[in-house]
Order: sequence, then structure tokens, then C-alpha cells
Amino acid sequence: MQITTNHVVTLNYTLKDNDDNILDKSDDGSFCYLHGASNIIPGLENALVGKVSGDSFSVTIQPEEAYGIHDEAKAQDVPRSMFPPEQEIEAGMQFNAQGPDGQAVVVTVKQVEGDTVTVDGNHPLASVTLNFEVIVMDIRDATAEELEHGHVHGPHGHHHD
Ligand code: ZN
Repeated sequence: MQITTNHVVTLNYTLKDNDDNILDKSDDGSFCYLHGASNIIPGLENALVGKVSGDSFSVTIQPEEAYGIHDEAKAQDVPRSMFPPEQEIEAGMQFNAQGPDGQAVVVTVKQVEGDTVTVDGNHPLASVTLNFEVIVMDIRDATAEELEHGHVHGPHGHHHD
């Protein structure tokens, strides 16, 4: 079975930046995704097309095909009152927010000064070139329910109440 749209794919991978720092890693067969549903970054999804179980390969993915280019305009100062009053706000904290087009974005607190909080809507891996080492562990057909939901179910997939 070759990887194509509507397959559920299990991967082991190591992700490094260009300085050989490990950014992320999954080596216990617990990472799976639904191919063709934009569950993973486009560069990695494209590199996996046609691979079969047991294949291993390396791929370098430019930011444009990963988490985008760092954009200064995505950093902005917002009033402290936009955050829950009872919550301590510190640099490095992440919050869910809404982007200009209404899409969900994760913002990272960069700085807190008095009543002003500087937040950054860039993904932490924006402008980072990603180097993946990948092993394809398993490929199966998605179920009708998985296709309808656009994500994987099961022990390592999405859980519903
Ligand atoms: Zn679901």
C-alpha cells in the first residue's frame, strides 16, 4: 500500500533545525495522521506521497512549506485587560487567539510591561528550516468516520467524549 489521500499513516520521525538541534521526536509509533487532510505541514505531506511501510528517508523543508516566514506585523502590544485578571501573565506563555481572518492562532507572550503585554502570533517554528528523518511504520485505509471528521481515531488518534 502506497501513501495517498485518505490513508492513515503512522510515522516515527526526528525533526532537527539546521544546527542539528532536535526540535521534536516521535519514535514509539504513536504519531499518526490522515493523509490529504492538512493534518501535517505541506512539505512533509508532499514528501510522503507514494512511500510504503518500512520506507525511511530524510527531507529538508523550507519555512514556506512548513510554518511560514516570521512576520514582524504579527507581534503586537495588547492591554493586560484582554487576559483573565486572575491569571499571572509571563513571557513564554501561549494563548489561543483569533487572527485577522477569524482563524485560530496561538500567540506567545514576549514581554509584560505594566499594563502592556507584547504578544507574537508567529508560530515558534516560523522561518525555521526543518530537517526530518522519517520512518513509515504503518499505512491503512481511513474509516468513513475518520474521513468525515478529517482526523485519525483510535488509540493514538483523536478522542471524542
Ligand atoms: Zn473525530
